[in-house]
Amino acid sequence: MTSKAAPSRKKTLRRALKRWHRRYREARMVALALRSPNHPVLAHAVVIRRCNLACTYCNEFDDFSKPVPTEEMLARIDRLAALGTTVITLTGGEPLLHPELEEIVRRVRRHGIIAVMVTNGYLLTAERIERLNRAGLDEMQISVDNVQPDEVSKKSLKVLDQKLQMLAAHAEFQVNIHSVVGACTEHPQEALTIARRAIELGLVSSAGIVHDASGSIRPLNEEQRGVIEEIDRLRKPRFSFAQHNPFRKNLIHGLPNDWHCTAGGRHLYICEDGLVHYCMAQRGFPGIPLAQYSREDMARESKTKKSCTPYCTIFCVQRVALLDHLREHPRQALEQIFPTRDDSGHPRRQPLPVRVLSALFLPSHGALSGRFFQKAALRILKIE
Ligand code: SF4
Ligand code: SF4
Repeated sequence: MTSKAAPSRKKTLRRALKRWHRRYREARMVALALRSPNHPVLAHAVVIRRCNLACTYCNEFDDFSKPVPTEEMLARIDRLAALGTTVITLTGGEPLLHPELEEIVRRVRRHGIIAVMVTNGYLLTAERIERLNRAGLDEMQISVDNVQPDEVSKKSLKVLDQKLQMLAAHAEFQVNIHSVVGACTEHPQEALTIARRAIELGLVSSAGIVHDASGSIRPLNEEQRGVIEEIDRLRKPRFSFAQHNPFRKNLIHGLPNDWHCTAGGRHLYICEDGLVHYCMAQRGFPGIPLAQYSREDMARESKTKKSCTPYCTIFCVQRVALLDHLREHPRQALEQIFPTRDDSGHPRRQPLPVRVLSALFLPSHGALSGRFFQKAALRILKIE
């Protein structure tokens, strides 16, 4: 594989400016989530159900659907904005098959919402990446399933490496390469090869775990756990919630998680027909049209207990739940995410940013200074 294609100096500068602006808006999104439980933090919106691939583990696609009409998609984005949504992930099928995807991204950004898309990467060209830059895309997520294509998935490093090089040269948005370890993956070391290549190209890498064909999670073996830990160590920046994920830690050991899922309120999944569902794994609940979805619906569904929580692998919804836990019980939440003792009971220091934020904002460190810094932070983030 060829090494990293160097971007121009102008591109590097634009990328740095956009990165800082994105970080500012991400901080604002977190602050809004910590301040109020009454808006969706994250929504996934399907722009087209058709896909150009046919991964055998996937039931989120067909090979015939037309794109959701652009006007209809824009109306859905407007509705999500009116509900106070702070992040929208455009998904499919394969979103790049939507001919006016950039128009939809532009509308997301016009509302001040963070714009993310998921793609298999096959249809990327330099010209399309530049169009997405101009539309204001914030982040692209690509799952790479294996090193060589096989009968399960063609999302392989061999096929996609050229596209990843193209992204390294042209993208001004963050590119996150996701690799998976678990029941359906025969060669866990391949996830590490994929993550190393992503880092070599200056992209971000993350690792997830997959369930088997029955939807069950099996505990990971020693080799699989070692791969996940190694990928986490490669990750830059080293400090991230994705890395300090207490849910994934339990699932890796085959243990259930005890948590409350607020999907239907804090997370919405909007299918191609414009209906609201909890998430991609729980279509049909509540199944109400987004145009009629109200704050009362969000409040009710947020509170509804879901039986699928113990072995859920939808980490984005779990991260939203962590933010809510942080707002309601800050010290317990921080202890859960960043334990102050390791598995053998030895004391462990929390990461420096966590200690600094705790010292500034948590009440027992001085109510007066806490209030002062909170007010200053809200002013900087332009939150009333
Ligand atoms: S590329 Fe994505 S949407 Fe298409 S079949 Fe594979 S997993 Fe499903
Ligand atoms: S627990 Fe997981 S699978 Fe169940 S509704 Fe929530 S996010 Fe979806």
